[in-house]
Amino acid sequence: MSKLSDVQNWKLNVDNFITEIVERDLQQGKNGGAVVTRFPPEPNGYLHIGHAKSLTLNFGLAARYDGHCNLRFDDTNPAKEEMEYVNGIINDVKWFVGHDNFNILWASDYFQLMYDRAVALIQAGKAYVDDSSAEEIAKMRGAPTEPGTPSPNRDRSVEENLRLFQDMTDGKFPDGACVLRAKIDMNSPNTNLRDPVLYRIKRFTHHNTGDKWLVYPMYDWAHGWEDSVEGITHSLCTLEFENHRPLYDWFLDQFPADHHPRQYEFNKLAIGHTVLSKRKLIELVKENRVDAWDDPRMPTLCGLRRRGYTPSAIRKFCEATNYTKTDGRVDISMMEFYLREELNKTSPRVMVVFNPLKVTITNYQGSSEVVDVENNPEDPAAGFRQVPFGPHLWVDGEDFAETPAKGWYRLAPGAEVRLKGAYFVTVKDVVKDASGQVIELKCTYDPTTRGGESPDGRKVKGTIQWVSADHGLAFETRLYDTLLAVESLADVPEDEDWRNYLNPQSLVVTQAIGEPTLKDAKPGVAYQFMRKGYFCLDSKDSTAGAPVFNRTVTLKDTWTKQNK
Ligand code: ATP
Ligand code: MG
Repeated sequence: MSKLSDVQNWKLNVDNFITEIVERDLQQGKNGGAVVTRFPPEPNGYLHIGHAKSLTLNFGLAARYDGHCNLRFDDTNPAKEEMEYVNGIINDVKWFVGHDNFNILWASDYFQLMYDRAVALIQAGKAYVDDSSAEEIAKMRGAPTEPGTPSPNRDRSVEENLRLFQDMTDGKFPDGACVLRAKIDMNSPNTNLRDPVLYRIKRFTHHNTGDKWLVYPMYDWAHGWEDSVEGITHSLCTLEFENHRPLYDWFLDQFPADHHPRQYEFNKLAIGHTVLSKRKLIELVKENRVDAWDDPRMPTLCGLRRRGYTPSAIRKFCEATNYTKTDGRVDISMMEFYLREELNKTSPRVMVVFNPLKVTITNYQGSSEVVDVENNPEDPAAGFRQVPFGPHLWVDGEDFAETPAKGWYRLAPGAEVRLKGAYFVTVKDVVKDASGQVIELKCTYDPTTRGGESPDGRKVKGTIQWVSADHGLAFETRLYDTLLAVESLADVPEDEDWRNYLNPQSLVVTQAIGEPTLKDAKPGVAYQFMRKGYFCLDSKDSTAGAPVFNRTVTLKDTWTKQNK
């Protein structure tokens, strides 16, 4: 493995309490100067934007402090885990961090070690087999305000516990018949310390260990060992694990010879109008309410990628929410802001017409020509492209007003406007169909204004996009809005189905006609459709004969305006 800082072209760019801790540890020479982090997904769904926040921190810190970061699958619950998710997660992490220079490790590779430590705990009189039911155990553990009730099995002898745990392991009991619990403190105000469960019996075939194990470790028991074996120095997780930290430490403290990583907790990402619960995302997919995990409306990394989001814009957004000790929810417009800011600098402009209105240039001689139009006014190095121009054009219906309001600078009877990069045209005649609908504008153009320049200095305020009807490329566009119609699912009454609050307008399919240059479009490369928004070719449904473009994000923040 080469050094992360040599292969990863980004690092964490914000300072926070975690960077302070890491820098203090480095100064004090802790961990031999090493910084080792991990990203520990459970393969029970695809990664979403919340995971991106964790990836940005874990891989970003490691690159910044010359350490490394493991991708470690927390595959301790075979009931819900699938290889499809494993492969999806690996793909998404590679895309997001921009390389594949990381270890791919499995919690299940440490099952034997975890098991041996559990046996050692029993031998030390600090764990026991309890055949109380799950409900009884929950009841005995009680609430923080009152002491818990010890299980009648709490004082079993070491020998009996060793024998019973062996029996659990050997399949002598049915699933759920008994569990192994740590013997800590039934009166602790932190209920996590009230004799937590370490192992339960589950007859499942595990994707990695097959049928070898009938007992599987619980998250709290497993996680510290995973971190310890891998020599993790800073184990970073979200705030809901803060009151699990005493347990994490208690387990490791029982084995002073083992490496003891430190756990730190940061704010979980929550975004308005966005579902981030894996369980709910699975429902959306299984019930076909979205196309798949990578539906461009999904907050998954594969969905965002298909939509046209870039890893760098997502990282900037995650960094802007920073890593703090207070949970909160950010507006979706904040995520869009960082994307727009990047795409404005990087994406070539093209002209696309959504409500085509026919324009005929009546004084145009010949059949066509090409004009040079600049690719990106924000980036002079992006140069120019050649755009065909001719007597038959499409313009956007919205750019014409038969009776214009004051201050209207676009097409209107008798008005002169600039066709972007081409010529000035003047509307001479408005053609209507039998129902009175405008179906064509007959215009003249001024050949001396080529390139959109005014040789006599006359002013034309309006500039609009256009497409040569003889050369344009027709395609489908998909305009997306948020999946949720409410800011937060916390606002949905408890007796109501959250699915009633899905936004019926989250996908609008339209047709458009664009410049022929769009024939060369590739998925993942954004264009700015001038005055319309940022779009990219759909990676799944697009074909050479029938292109499909996804709207990545609107040009301006219309969202905040509409909703505030
Ligand atoms: P589950 O309920 O399945 O455990 P999870 O969202 O915790 O769901 P994991 O696969 O366990 O999913 O998460 C992997 C890592 O990503 C964890 O370290 C977790 O803390 C982090 N993570 C998950 N969701 C968020 C979020 N919304 N914001 C920040 N980090 C997150
Ligand atoms: Mg989790």
